[in-house]
Amino acid sequence: MCGVFGVWNHGEASNITYLGLHGLQHRGQESAGIVSSHDSQLVSYRRMGRVAEVFDSKAIAALPGTSAIGHVRYSTAGMSIQKNAQPFAVEFKGASLAIAHNGNLTNAVTLRRRLEDEGALFHTTMDTEIFVHLLARSKRETLVERMREAMDIVEGAYSLLILTPDQLLAVRDPHGFRPLVLGELGDGHVLSSESCSLRLVDATPVREIEPGEMLIFDAQGMRSIRRSAPAPRYACIFEHIYFARPDSQIFGEDVYGVRKESGRRLAVEAPAPGAEVVIPVPDSGNAAALGFAQEAGLPFEQGLIRSHYAGRTFIEPAQSIRHFGVKLKLSPVESVIRDRSVVVIDDSLVRGTTSRKIVRMLRDAGAREVHMRIACPPTTHSCFYGIDTPDRAELIAANKSTAEIAEFLGADSLSYLSLDGLHASVKGHGGGYCSACFTGRYPIRVPEESAPAARLSEHE
Ligand code: AMP
Repeated sequence: MCGVFGVWNHGEASNITYLGLHGLQHRGQESAGIVSSHDSQLVSYRRMGRVAEVFDSKAIAALPGTSAIGHVRYSTAGMSIQKNAQPFAVEFKGASLAIAHNGNLTNAVTLRRRLEDEGALFHTTMDTEIFVHLLARSKRETLVERMREAMDIVEGAYSLLILTPDQLLAVRDPHGFRPLVLGELGDGHVLSSESCSLRLVDATPVREIEPGEMLIFDAQGMRSIRRSAPAPRYACIFEHIYFARPDSQIFGEDVYGVRKESGRRLAVEAPAPGAEVVIPVPDSGNAAALGFAQEAGLPFEQGLIRSHYAGRTFIEPAQSIRHFGVKLKLSPVESVIRDRSVVVIDDSLVRGTTSRKIVRMLRDAGAREVHMRIACPPTTHSCFYGIDTPDRAELIAANKSTAEIAEFLGADSLSYLSLDGLHASVKGHGGGYCSACFTGRYPIRVPEESAPAARLSEHE
């Protein structure tokens, strides 16, 4: 998954972009980059690492100009290497162009093969580069027309920012899988994957970029082009469950409110009789646990504390310490847990490996009973539209029943929120959400080479 942020017409474009990327750091921690436009040229700085590690004041000062785009990356298509860091910047036909992409193209392999057969030389392994080749090869005159043509060729999920020395384009795929919002800042504009970053830079939220819409910023100001044929909306429901920040509004709805409501509904659907205390798996389960506790009339306590300083790499002790990895991140509060029957709330269960360690940790800390409640349905299918879910073989709910999973976790009971309960928690869009990770009903064709044959359902 990834985050994108852009600025048009502001004296401190790269600095604002840098701040905006900080607010999107949860969407990707592998690499960060900014491209700014200055003196008819694009200037680029991209590195592996988090925003605060990648940029210092010298790097920002070397990115002058009044427009910029930025990207934080968590690889879902293409390897995690510096060459694949975004924004991706190229020169063609004497013009420069940079592109920042959130989402996954579903016909990337087919298009790449076709483009390579036609002589295209790819520099990266990212699906994003396909856009660049399509734009470069188009016979249309303007970038806007070329982009419009590309939108008819690519399939899948994309929220895109494209920067040239004299234009900024903000584009969202026709189904609106990934979020993208517009804000105003002084005389200029900002674009962001999530609204939390608009607030961070003191921008006023204006609206979402609509599915299938292209916003164009240039010397004439701002204008909008929409695809003539409207397509069904498939906003990613998992953004609400896990991915987006709870202080964001995405797809026109408050993420925190959706999560709390999902927890409240979970308490109605799957109460835990005899339980004495509700604890979240921080931070992902916080809002749902609060909703659950309020509905169940049980105390909400912080029974697990998360360390925010656990890095991604660590040195294993030679003498094995039990559940070492998870201990770096989470630690139990014994006074909350000891001798009690505990309901543990998490937003989702994927492989089950972390949750299993958490249950052990709670038992070691003296819990009498551990009841796991998950604020979404069983995750049974991989995502091909930009969320990093493992292959089906590794998804525990694709391979075990709920009773078997409870046993694997070592929990006294396990229940999930129903699909109806989840859909009722997100009220907007008249149900225009993609929930393929729970149903296997993929709303648009998934890549041929990864499609389970029985699941390949096109344009339902
Ligand atoms: P596990 O018990 O190993 O299935 O891990 C469950 C945890 O993974 C939950 O706390 C989720 O919030 C978290 N999670 C869900 N989806 C993702 C994802 N795409 N990337 C990273 N963590 C995730």
